[in-house]
Amino acid sequence: MSAENENKEFIYESFINNFIEEDLSDTSELVTRFPPEPNGYLHLGHAKSICLNFGLAEQYGGKCNLRFDDTNPAKEDTEFVNSIKNDIKWLGFDWEDRLYFASGYFDKMYEYAVELIKKGLAYVCDMSAEQVRLARGTLTEPGKESPYRNRSIEENLDLFERMKNGEFADGEKTLRAKIDMASPNINMRDPVIYRIAHMTHHATGDKWCIYPMYDYAHPIEDAIEGVTHSICTMEFEDHRPLYDWVVNNIDFKVKPRQIEFAKLNLEDTIMGKRYLRNLVETNQVDGWDDPRLITLSGIRRRGYTPEAIRSFCASVGVAKANSVVSLSQLEYYAREDLQPKTPVRMAVLDPVKLVITNYPEDKTEYLTLENHPKDESFGTREVPFTRELYIEREDFLEDPPKKFFRLAPDKEVRLKGAYIVKCTGVVKDSDGNITEIHCTYDPETRSGSEAAGRKVKGTIHWVSCAHAKPIQVNLYENLVIPDEGSDNGYSLNPDSLKVVKAYIEDNISDVKPMDRFQFMRNGYFIADSKHFTDEKPVFNRIVSLKSSFKPQKQ
Ligand code: ATP
Ligand code: MG
Repeated sequence: MSAENENKEFIYESFINNFIEEDLSDTSELVTRFPPEPNGYLHLGHAKSICLNFGLAEQYGGKCNLRFDDTNPAKEDTEFVNSIKNDIKWLGFDWEDRLYFASGYFDKMYEYAVELIKKGLAYVCDMSAEQVRLARGTLTEPGKESPYRNRSIEENLDLFERMKNGEFADGEKTLRAKIDMASPNINMRDPVIYRIAHMTHHATGDKWCIYPMYDYAHPIEDAIEGVTHSICTMEFEDHRPLYDWVVNNIDFKVKPRQIEFAKLNLEDTIMGKRYLRNLVETNQVDGWDDPRLITLSGIRRRGYTPEAIRSFCASVGVAKANSVVSLSQLEYYAREDLQPKTPVRMAVLDPVKLVITNYPEDKTEYLTLENHPKDESFGTREVPFTRELYIEREDFLEDPPKKFFRLAPDKEVRLKGAYIVKCTGVVKDSDGNITEIHCTYDPETRSGSEAAGRKVKGTIHWVSCAHAKPIQVNLYENLVIPDEGSDNGYSLNPDSLKVVKAYIEDNISDVKPMDRFQFMRNGYFIADSKHFTDEKPVFNRIVSLKSSFKPQKQ
């Protein structure tokens, strides 16, 4: 575990624990795996699977392997492999020396297929994909046996070898498991386990022109690695009998057990890799790490911490039933984690000028403000205070409702860490927009002084116009909005990114990309990892301060 994650415990208790405890003897060790297909970047759903697999291994003193599922001969995908490794490490997990590639087992898989043929459990079939599909039957009707089903073992061995040697064209033949065309489970109706594809594989080059199918390959990969519990998502539940068939008909020492759980679904979020990939490739977002994406690299650039993601994953739990988790739950864990470790600054996102008419024009006072509302160890900083300040436009109302405790004509408010001011009037432009708010301050009410105890209901933040630094602030809304007219029920939200010119207190010269702050009353922010420079400081809002989610008490 990385230093950042030390001393934190994340417990993933579920029905899976019962299975594990049932299966493990005193001498056996739990082995799990995380098996991503390197065809995109990881997303929050994958984080759930990672936390579960690596988390259980930690909990039981076992091991979790990282295995890239590259059985599909695809284009070069080093970028995806590297990003996946990086994301898993960021979450705080370690596969140590157990990094595997499914393609590393191609020789073994071939040998096992030969073994199945010799046992009379597999045959070469000449039917086309379309014919296989038509003969498969339905949920209520059995399938029809292939006319090639009863080829002799010798003929099958010969044909399969010739398939491997490249004597046939793509689709001309397949190797099928000989199970039961009348099985109520369609997956057991003589599934194809090898197909011909004359394609160059990124790892094995042109060595192979036959490639194993997922349902055949996955249990073998698990068994070879000594995986004891192969945890996957619900769509594989109906494939479990085939998984067991493969494991039981090949001579393995350890027979892994497949256990399914429900995928993580997030409210108003499209998780699938294919959707994300399309957004990236058509430049609708700023790369795979666009802070609006729920890819782990997007979430990281947005400013979420790995601890927040792990707490969130633990909080959503593991179940068989599908459910949709609210985004506010994710945000809740982000705040929980950020609150104790994030220093505070004042930044004004929608500035309007506040002029303190009885404050000397040429005076600058340095006021001492705490860097954290609860933790003194963060220390203090000196913030310049002058006659002209910026405050948030929304902190003033000319005609306020009853319970408005901010600034209004003749009303008082405390400027954070400074004085109580009273509004005396406003200046407007020819269109009636407020350009300046005028006020007077009470010199007796400086924060920390004796008279400071005088109570006013509201406190607002501010920055000194003469000292404040302009910054760019990116504010986010959900990336998609419901849209009944579209294929997947959503369309891109045109307001998902709002770029704002804001002002921050003067002292940010030591800020580096990825530094996080709480901007008082405005939320948690992070210096953008891609675009932050000293000349153009860019901050992303991680999350606002208000929470609508409350965790259930255990
Ligand atoms: P996608 O549908 O986004 O393409 P995938 O399942 O095809 O995802 P893989 O790389 O095959 O992606 O998945 C690696 C592991 O992550 C698998 O074990 C898969 O079950 C798990 N996984 C994928 N999506 C989720 C999710 N939303 N919740 C939990 N686990 C998931
Ligand atoms: Mg997949």
